[in-house]
Amino acid sequence: ILELQHVFKNYSLEGRDIPVLKDINFQIAEGATVAIVGPSGSGKSTLLGLCAGLDQASTGSIKLNGIELSGLSEDKLAQIRNQHVGFVFQNFQLLPTLTALENVMVPMELRGIRNHQPVAMVLLERVGLADRANHYPSQLSGGEQQRVSLARAFANKPKILFADEPTGNLDAETSLIIEEMLFELNRASGTTLVIVTHDLELAAKTQQIIPIKGGQIQ
Ligand code: ATP
Ligand code: MG
Repeated sequence: ILELQHVFKNYSLEGRDIPVLKDINFQIAEGATVAIVGPSGSGKSTLLGLCAGLDQASTGSIKLNGIELSGLSEDKLAQIRNQHVGFVFQNFQLLPTLTALENVMVPMELRGIRNHQPVAMVLLERVGLADRANHYPSQLSGGEQQRVSLARAFANKPKILFADEPTGNLDAETSLIIEEMLFELNRASGTTLVIVTHDLELAAKTQQIIPIKGGQIQ
């Protein structure tokens, strides 16, 4: 479902080119569970963003669900993201002017799904936040924002879900609940899971581990 060939990514900062990813190659099969692990600053979030079509590689090929992402317009990328991709951001990226419930409703609205409010409510219940539905992100704790972000990603019924440190801010018990939800989504819906994590116990539960260091696969 995902294939990278010779992917490089440079950021340009104050006129200088900073290489962040250097010749990344891998494949992920449909329905697989995968962990991306590595030190802080090694390029994990950058890699996830490229795979999800949130940003473009500098050079190289990324095929998602058979579609080559490089050179696509932002409109076309947005369409692919809405159709196939769920994303849980490291910093949640909830919309601050919308309540928890409304945040979960957004991807369903974008896809034209009707009657999405009760579905969004069920998703919030599953992450244990039914009683926080009408809170704004600023009124939620970090872990609660994390769980809203997960519920929003599940709402898309994605073919592939990218999660950047989905359990990074949570206590052990809540982490296990979230983990279980992720693997259940994989088992029940065949959603491919690509999880960036520092939690080696979580990584050990996936089928494939991609270790990166200094922008390269180890
Ligand atoms: P962490 O585990 O701390 O989240 P990471 O592996 O996710 O780290 P990235 O966020 O991918 O790391 O960043 C990789 C490198 O790219 C870092 O050195 C970072 O400073 C740099 N970087 C990230 N985004 C930008 C940007 N927009 N412009 C310039 N440099 C960037
Ligand atoms: Mg990161």
